Amino acid sequence: MGHKFAEIAFTETIRILQTEMGSRTGYADMDEGEDYNNLMSTVESNFIAARDSFYMATVSETGWPYVQHRGGPPGFVKVLNANTIGFADYAGNRQYVSTGNLLKNDRISLFFMDYPNRRRLKILGRVSLVPSDDLETLTQLEDDHFRAPVERAFLIKIEAFDWNCPKYITPRYTEEDVEALITPLQKKFDLLRRGDQPSQTLPKVPNEIGAGPLPLVITAIRQEAENIRSYELCHPDGAALPPVKAGAHIQVPVVTSSGDAIWRFYSICSDPAQQNHYRIAVLNQPGGRGGSSALHSEYQVGMRLACYRPDNYFALQSEKHKKGAKAVFIAGGIGITPIRAMVFEAEKNGYAYVLHYAARSNKSSAFTGDFTSLRDRAYIYFSEEDERLDLHRIFAAATADTIHYLCAPPAMLQAARFTAQKMGLKPSSLIFEAFKE
Ligand SMILES: Cc1cc2nc3c(=O)[nH]c(=O)nc-3n(C[C@H](O)[C@H](O)[C@H](O)COP(=O)(O)OP(=O)(O)OC[C@H]3O[C@@H](n4cnc5c(N)ncnc54)[C@H](O)[C@@H]3O)c2cc1C
Repeated sequence: MGHKFAEIAFTETIRILQTEMGSRTGYADMDEGEDYNNLMSTVESNFIAARDSFYMATVSETGWPYVQHRGGPPGFVKVLNANTIGFADYAGNRQYVSTGNLLKNDRISLFFMDYPNRRRLKILGRVSLVPSDDLETLTQLEDDHFRAPVERAFLIKIEAFDWNCPKYITPRYTEEDVEALITPLQKKFDLLRRGDQPSQTLPKVPNEIGAGPLPLVITAIRQEAENIRSYELCHPDGAALPPVKAGAHIQVPVVTSSGDAIWRFYSICSDPAQQNHYRIAVLNQPGGRGGSSALHSEYQVGMRLACYRPDNYFALQSEKHKKGAKAVFIAGGIGITPIRAMVFEAEKNGYAYVLHYAARSNKSSAFTGDFTSLRDRAYIYFSEEDERLDLHRIFAAATADTIHYLCAPPAMLQAARFTAQKMGLKPSSLIFEAFKE
């Protein structure tokens, strides 16, 4: 009972070795309690759905492990339910080593890598081979973008999974990742080459900035939407970061266009349970004093930021949710950042919740893909498609103990306050994050 990955991976000999090396007590807690890390949450499902490759180990009848790399378009590994994944197998080099091994021993070990974000998901499971005449399962596993004939498919019952520490994962980038990062720089370069001045000249930012007590390094940058970039921040030594709860924010040192070193606040939008990194997502606001623009155009992977420890004025009222109170998350635009972390926390703890996320369009909004698998728990409204988030309807569905968490632009927050007051909602049932210092 307890952590399923530890239960399988920590054999008798390994436990003796851990005792000899002094690490057993640190892992002992994993043996206690209900089974866990055997059913995937949306975090694992979404992670797998975004991967374009993985490594797969099988064991031969002579006891030799065999590791194979499998690749395909992102999402070619299908998540069928919380403990079943699968993928279609197309004709390859016809050695059939993995397939042959699996006929004798159905155990499998998988590594899913996210190099830019330095994340690694390990899976242990048992495989069944789907024969070519099981058309129903094959159709579920077939990839829409790959039209070669499917020879068979692999169906994997997950027995355990675990996440790895990012310490020795070197960030690597695909062509698409690199293009998203260099396109804005290329445009700026083209302007300069033509002799034009970019509209706002920003001072060169040093490679180390800030004077806070928490050293962080940017380990990955992602273009999440048209004007939104996310930054993954890790401890330079790979050490665990101070624990946070959903709703937390961190102060980041920024150099403005006038050269002033100032601080900007950013909500931590990553899963709060992840202690190996924080992720922040920043909307570029060219009309401002230049903090967000500097982050977008000057901040690079490898830059070191001496930040302050995270703070939280927008935490979930966990005690109430543990007792069954429903959480209603309402996000507008970049306000999705703290709410995303709240969705992770609510999912992990089994709280009743629903998410309403209003944005202009798919291409201008971050993280919409994270919520598509949540079905009846997540609603996304794109104003450019004439979809409206109806505050009146949301508030009308509230019961006496429902708590609403809102993070959105000022106009939407104002509308929410007004509507809630008019409908007689208790002020304590609404908690706001206005992105105001
Ligand atoms: C707790 C907290 C969490 C936050 N989380 C996030 C997050 O996750 N993502 C994110 O992108 N941002 C977040 N913010 C906002 C962020 O801290 C910055 O304010 C934002 O990045 C803009 O910074 P800037 O320097 O580019 O612009 P700013 O100078 O801060 O300007 C921002 C906007 O305000 C207007 N403005 C500036 N000064 C004035 C003024 N004197 N009068 C009227 N209007 C003015 C500007 O025109 C501009 O449109 C958060 C803020 C807080 C307090």
